[in-house]
Amino acid sequence: MQRRNFLKNSSAAAAGLLSTPLIASCNDQTKKAVTKVEESFSKKPIAICTWNFENATAKAWEVLKNGGSSLDAVQQGAMIEEADINNQTVGIGGRPDRDGNVTLDACIMDKDGNCGAVLAMQNIASPVSVARKVMEDTPHVMLAGLGAEKFAYEKGFKKVNLLTEQSKKEWEEWKKTSEYKPVINIENHDTIGILAIDANGDISGACTTSGMGYKYAGRVGDSPIIGAGLFVDNEVGAATATGVGEEVVRTVGSFLIVELMRQGKTPQEACEEGVRRIMAKNKGRTDFQIGFIAVNKNGETGGYCIHPGFSYRTYSETGHVDNPADSFLKA
Ligand code: ASP
Repeated sequence: MQRRNFLKNSSAAAAGLLSTPLIASCNDQTKKAVTKVEESFSKKPIAICTWNFENATAKAWEVLKNGGSSLDAVQQGAMIEEADINNQTVGIGGRPDRDGNVTLDACIMDKDGNCGAVLAMQNIASPVSVARKVMEDTPHVMLAGLGAEKFAYEKGFKKVNLLTEQSKKEWEEWKKTSEYKPVINIENHDTIGILAIDANGDISGACTTSGMGYKYAGRVGDSPIIGAGLFVDNEVGAATATGVGEEVVRTVGSFLIVELMRQGKTPQEACEEGVRRIMAKNKGRTDFQIGFIAVNKNGETGGYCIHPGFSYRTYSETGHVDNPADSFLKA
């Protein structure tokens, strides 16, 4: 089914090219153009996510492969990590703030630029799903704190204890010194930002996190902020981020990357420029990690980070791969 759609899309696109008045005959240039279109279609559908989240991308791919929308794919992919108690920076099992409360941030954005987000929300297991409800059932983009939680209950979400024994134990240990380190350990970001293109060629994205461990109560990073942690423009592509959110917010990182792609940069070049902008604002500072990933309308992908160690996973018809990202600083 998927394959059929893909072939249909390819030939329709090729036919579109051939009927363009500018291309009168099937000369070499035309052939090249058609081949290019076919090549680019072969990269879609595709799911791509920050880090090596195999189960999340596999879920997203399953949705895409069965003809589902990119919006369903990113939501269902993100939900896999939210439900994983061993991932201590997303959903249930996330590290709490300094007061011992797990507060979650998430956002989602669709092909039409619709978006929804929840910020610093407690007691709800799937913030990305609440974010989608905010997008679809309210005239708003963001709901925060108690308001977001109340809205979630109204929509039928159940109250859940998000603090696992493991995260509680580590937080109690941390309290002995209460050393507040706003700089996240460079190996310790597991926020999932996930992007997908479906068989129609439509792009969506989602991002979900418990944020910085032992953060100030109420602290919100980049992940639920449209333009910072995530941005989708169906004409151009999409980008998402992981790492020290404050720095991503300062450069409106994901929006920047999408706009750079609009200006002609590849996803890889755009991610590299995004990281360079951050480094330019942090002269001499190297004690933090950020990773960006991006996909363009053709399904081409890219990723770049500050320190070695970041990778991103892609899942498409050609298989699934963990792609180690190149880094601004070398090992
Ligand atoms: N970007 C997230 C935040 O700043 C954290 C992370 O990616 O690890 O909240």
